[in-house]
Amino acid sequence: MTTATVRVPAKINLCLGVGPVRDDGYHPLATVYQAVDVHDEVKATATEDDEISVTVHLEADESAEVPTDGDNIAVKAAHLLRDTTGTEAGVQLAIRKVIPVAGGMAGGSADAAAALVACNEAWGTGLGRPELERLAAQLGSDVPFLLHGGNAMGGGRGETVSPVLARGSYYWVAAVAATGLSTKAVYAEFDRLNEGSNVAQPEVPDDLLAALRAGDAEALGRSLSNDLTLAALSLRPELAGTLDIGLEAEALGAVISGSGPTCVFLAADENHSLDIAMALAGAGVCADVIQARGPVAGARLV
Ligand code: ATP
Repeated sequence: MTTATVRVPAKINLCLGVGPVRDDGYHPLATVYQAVDVHDEVKATATEDDEISVTVHLEADESAEVPTDGDNIAVKAAHLLRDTTGTEAGVQLAIRKVIPVAGGMAGGSADAAAALVACNEAWGTGLGRPELERLAAQLGSDVPFLLHGGNAMGGGRGETVSPVLARGSYYWVAAVAATGLSTKAVYAEFDRLNEGSNVAQPEVPDDLLAALRAGDAEALGRSLSNDLTLAALSLRPELAGTLDIGLEAEALGAVISGSGPTCVFLAADENHSLDIAMALAGAGVCADVIQARGPVAGARLV
């Protein structure tokens, strides 16, 4: 039996511009993603029967709910690859989950990207990167970026990924909430809050791109932004307190990642990141605190 194991990072959104809802129900996005070193691992073992199965081992939050049937997005990825390539084999997927579930860090999308790469290897289906990227876009808006990794601009509904010029390595602290937020619910709240107003087409702020080009952490901290902030705060008012604690610890910037509820803080260096982490843990405003570095590579065989 052939086995392949893939490590895949989480993402944060350095900016997230959200436009008016489209006819297909999606919102146009203008975002800059950064992959950070909080990794899930997906192991694929090819089998001779035609079953696609999954087990999930929760490393961080044992109470998180991740489906272990066909609703698991890694299983959907395996089915899509099999249907596309016509292979007849089955696969046992084993996910080691560290990325917070429903945390706005694209944990499910990460597993889908990893499953594509792992099954492609275990089945010997030999698809190249461009073909895997096409399948990734069918699976979800964030999945192509998790194949790509590094820093990248996301357009369309997030699935159109293009590289950005960037320097530097950044120290992040993530405050993970006890319970996740549904991405769908946060977008619905965004629509409710904006009802009757003209939502502009989203753009990536020039000052954020300039900060990344220069590798200037202070400027990057000042230019972090997220158009879903009010919607996430409306559903979880207590996140305002979490953001304040990080800012009181002199974080260079604070932002809700994606649709939340994870709040991320930019630190000047490793010591500063420890100070922010201790302030958050001490204040008891979140269930877990993670220190992370970015950017890192996307889904890779190990
Ligand atoms: P995003 O940042 O892309 O909006 P998220 O990080 O907020 O996503 P996920 O962790 O991807 O959220 O989980 C969203 C939901 O998807 C979960 O509530 C879970 O039920 C379901 N799900 C399906 N497959 C997976 C998976 N492999 N890992 C985690 N969640 C999964």
